[in-house]
Amino acid sequence: MQGTASAETTAFRSRVRKLVATHLTPLVPEAEQTRIFPREGIAAMGAEGLFRERWTGGPYGDLGRSVVISEELGRAGLGGVGAGVSLHFEAATAILRRCARTPYAIEVRENALDGRYVCCLATTEQHVGSNLAEVGSTTLTRDGSGWRVRGIKWFVSPGAAADVVLVLCRAEDGLAIAMVPQEDITVVKRLETTGMRGLGTARLDIDAHVSDEAIIAGPGLGLPMVTFGLLFERLAIAAGAVGSLELALTLASTHLRRRKQHGVALFEHQALRLRMADLVSQTALARHALYGVIAGLSAGSSSLGDLAGVKVTIARMAEPIVSECMHIFGGRGYLEDETPMARLWRDLRVGRVGAGTDEVMWELVASEMPVDDDLYDTWIPEEPS
Ligand SMILES: Cc1cc2nc3c(=O)[nH]c(=O)nc-3n(C[C@H](O)[C@H](O)[C@H](O)COP(=O)(O)OP(=O)(O)OC[C@H]3O[C@@H](n4cnc5c(N)ncnc54)[C@H](O)[C@@H]3O)c2cc1C
Repeated sequence: MQGTASAETTAFRSRVRKLVATHLTPLVPEAEQTRIFPREGIAAMGAEGLFRERWTGGPYGDLGRSVVISEELGRAGLGGVGAGVSLHFEAATAILRRCARTPYAIEVRENALDGRYVCCLATTEQHVGSNLAEVGSTTLTRDGSGWRVRGIKWFVSPGAAADVVLVLCRAEDGLAIAMVPQEDITVVKRLETTGMRGLGTARLDIDAHVSDEAIIAGPGLGLPMVTFGLLFERLAIAAGAVGSLELALTLASTHLRRRKQHGVALFEHQALRLRMADLVSQTALARHALYGVIAGLSAGSSSLGDLAGVKVTIARMAEPIVSECMHIFGGRGYLEDETPMARLWRDLRVGRVGAGTDEVMWELVASEMPVDDDLYDTWIPEEPS
């Protein structure tokens, strides 16, 4: 984290920044063009030990490191490549780390932590997205001594590149999570996403016969374990957005100094300078709110509603802020190949949908909204009859 960051955090950030620049940034242009997620990025970051460092410590791992990595993925403007790395080492690895008990599950977890396997999470179906409790068209049924997993998952990232997909499926006794290997999966469609083009989001047809060992969360445990994994993805989305905003704002405020119009730098125009100052202030607020929630999660004082509130608020702030930064570049801001602004703008939009939409987040906040009858009675007189 920045600001009052310790020397250790500062050193970790600087190392992550270098690793991202070395291993991930060079992969972005081709991934954006082909829409194929580059699995070698995960292999390289895993081989550097980054995922293991993030997942040291208690049940949440090291959240300070988690947020630094996600911010740096966002700050590097990696788009889908960064999101795919994040989905692997946050959502999927969180579930593997919490649930792996059998030799096969432990093998998958260890390979995920070292980046040798790419893992991801498949929950959404054609008719079920926001309400995961209703997942049902992907089924888990007894098949001799093992299980059959059958169904179509509508959006999976990076679906076509994954070695193992964690599939939320409906068994007779409730929702479960099955680990399905790539060879039992057919890519039905590579999705034409507006942004995050390097993420390789795909529609997958799953038809697998798996052993008991592949059921990483048994019937009844699927939903709580998916919910657990999504917590980390929400943090990663918020931290990634803060990182991307830092990139956009730094580029835009540098442009304000460099670009001259009417004989003076754009910075000399008060309307532009103050507008940018407002956006910088909003982003600083977002960053500190995020750090506060993370510190609270580690200390046990932040709630799921706090985390949901930070995710939805930052995801919604990010889009207009990037749009304003794009505006500072005038016509070039709208060009795909001359500034990164247009790509940042379309990439950030999905933060309002991924790992739970705005409305799903607000429902979590609403469920924790404070009610205090004593306070109410102190301040609000009874209505005259
Ligand atoms: C680029 C991309 C990558 C993705 N990657 C993955 C992935 O890796 N794995 C995966 O499983 N899924 C993935 N998804 C799917 C994503 O998680 C879902 O799209 C999301 O959860 C919303 O579900 P839905 O599309 O079915 O929308 P719906 O649930 O149909 O919702 C439509 C709209 O209605 C709102 N809404 C729904 N219910 C309510 C309600 N009760 N009250 C108020 N408003 C409501 C929603 O907020 C939304 O605005 C991805 C999606 C995208 C675009």
